[in-house]
Amino acid sequence: MLKKANSDLVRRQNRGLFLETLRQHGPLARITLGHRTGLSPASITSISAQLIDEGLVYSIGEDDAVSAETKRGRPQTRLALNPKATNVLAVSISVDSIELAFADFSGATHAPVKLRMDTYEIPKEEFGPRVANEIKANARKLGIELSSITRIGIAVQGVADTITGEIPWSPAFRARDIPVVKPLERILGIPCSIGNNANMIAEALIAADRKKYGGNTAVVFLGHGVGLGLILNGAVYDGANGRAAEFGHMNHLPDGPLCRCGRHGCLEAFSADYGIMRMATNGQGNDFDVHAAVRDEEMRELELAAESGDTVAIDAFNRAGEVLGFGIARLIALINPQRVVLAGPGTRAYDLMKDSIWEALRRGLVHDLRKYVEFEVVPYGKDMITTGTLVETLRHLDRDVFATGQKGTVLEFSGRKIA
Ligand SMILES: [Zn+2]
Repeated sequence: MLKKANSDLVRRQNRGLFLETLRQHGPLARITLGHRTGLSPASITSISAQLIDEGLVYSIGEDDAVSAETKRGRPQTRLALNPKATNVLAVSISVDSIELAFADFSGATHAPVKLRMDTYEIPKEEFGPRVANEIKANARKLGIELSSITRIGIAVQGVADTITGEIPWSPAFRARDIPVVKPLERILGIPCSIGNNANMIAEALIAADRKKYGGNTAVVFLGHGVGLGLILNGAVYDGANGRAAEFGHMNHLPDGPLCRCGRHGCLEAFSADYGIMRMATNGQGNDFDVHAAVRDEEMRELELAAESGDTVAIDAFNRAGEVLGFGIARLIALINPQRVVLAGPGTRAYDLMKDSIWEALRRGLVHDLRKYVEFEVVPYGKDMITTGTLVETLRHLDRDVFATGQKGTVLEFSGRKIA
């Protein structure tokens, strides 16, 4: 029994590797696929026959007579993921807005659908059903059958519990413990998973350049909050139940200004957009409404004021940078990353914060611990969250669903469920 379980496991790993390699590199000839995966020609032949038979992979390029891969006068066919094999959906939840992005198995997306929703005031039991109805209506508009969607990945601004599928708390909601995964699965009959949006940005960066970001990288998100996608040994680390890594809610100053989480003095209470706006307009006064979203135009106005010499605005950005710099110094001391990446809309004001960030890094951390760390500010597009969510969702299908050869197969290994 153990021997059978082991051979099933190897088969499953090889199929997963095959699919993931095609996903990463695009269409490949069998021989190249063998080189990239390290699988033997016999394994490549056998797995490709199975996957073609199951409709997950198809051959292209038979009549490509000038193929660079032509050998002995015979054009080689290439294998590609079959876009029609299935569909997936990425759902991105943020303050007052929901975004839906439907994609096929090759990862090609339809134009994302942006929906306004008053998330902050919505009763928590109504949220899941409302989103499910939007998914149904928009799938119908795009001509996508619900039954063709194999998985839904959900990214949320705030804390996502990967075990319960709930949102314990988020700046997007007044309520706590919002059920999301269970109501969507019940109403739509499609498996769902949920994760934090900074983690999804980290997934998007790994997919874009595994060599650069796939080792140990800290991706700090700046904007409506301060988040962290922590890449450790090539994988996004999300802790015991998805609540890592809440960098923005590490305490900077006990009893400091009020944070959106309800505590005082968290890092994001200084360095998120609302912390900067409060500092510029209200000092550290606690009569500032931290739950109101700061509009992009308001932040732009504050940045322009700082750029034109307004000392109150300059001080607010300096304070945000200083607190962020001390936070990053602690983070570097703790995990020794190769790279620290700043991402998110808040990076637009990086030039206003960089001197104070670096000054705090110098004051907060001995040179020997930071001298090899590379820093990078990446241009931000909201599609990074959607891209990362789709990457994570499709990888789950490759490794854990289609790799088994049968949807929903559960392998038993030494009496322990491994799928
Ligand atoms: Zn907090």
